[in-house]
Amino acid sequence: MNIGLFGGSFDPIHRGHLALAQAAASRYALEQVLFVAANVPPHKQKPPVTAFIHRYAMVALATQDERRFVPSLLEAPEWAGGANYSIDTVRRLKQTLKKSDRLFFLIGMDAFKDIANWREARALLGECDFIVASRPRYSLRDVAESLPEDLRPPAAVIRPFHKQPAKGDLVLPGVTLHLLEGIHQGVSATAIRAAAAQGKPLARWLDPRVADYIKKHGLYRGKRLDK
Ligand code: ATP
Repeated sequence: MNIGLFGGSFDPIHRGHLALAQAAASRYALEQVLFVAANVPPHKQKPPVTAFIHRYAMVALATQDERRFVPSLLEAPEWAGGANYSIDTVRRLKQTLKKSDRLFFLIGMDAFKDIANWREARALLGECDFIVASRPRYSLRDVAESLPEDLRPPAAVIRPFHKQPAKGDLVLPGVTLHLLEGIHQGVSATAIRAAAAQGKPLARWLDPRVADYIKKHGLYRGKRLDK
């Protein structure tokens, strides 16, 4: 079976995340997409993220109606102390999978462009296929140039890629990328936190159950909003 792993801080989970997962699940016949909220996202510790339990609860609420979407505790505090690195999570998950299962790592282009700086990036890219949600302003060259140096094709090969949109499959030794185009929605968790802090309505960006949860718990009120 095809399984997707979609990690993030999900602070909070929003329609952009859900659109990415829906598009990936449909396009690559994913029978399950695990939404893995990181207890301690390596790159997002200032200001501290909202408590894991709230972010997990919001993921559970937002994924309730979709049979294929599973809120995952893979990076819950009970499982992993310290920062959560995707390579550790992927390895841990793969130990539980069958030989016939195929794992896909879901990621937005904004996050993918930093992938070369992730812990054991080369190993991570070799562990599973990647589904990268591209955005209109990115070319195939931007995608290729985001790869760690030793996986990147020579500059002369990727230079002409700048005229090609980031779509289709990019299969290189040690890495397989599936590029999903046109699903990025103009919403970010940062903007939602800012709106919540000002008491603005959030419904257009979020599942209404998540908006309700934020309101009931007074999340994001009076917090520092810069990153
Ligand atoms: P923040 O604004 O706090 O940085 P975020 O909205 O980018 O948060 P994350 O939880 O950091 O959300 O993102 C998890 C994953 O979802 C990343 O791979 C990111 O690229 C992707 N993603 C975030 N926003 C969108 C969006 N609007 N459309 C598609 N993918 C997105």
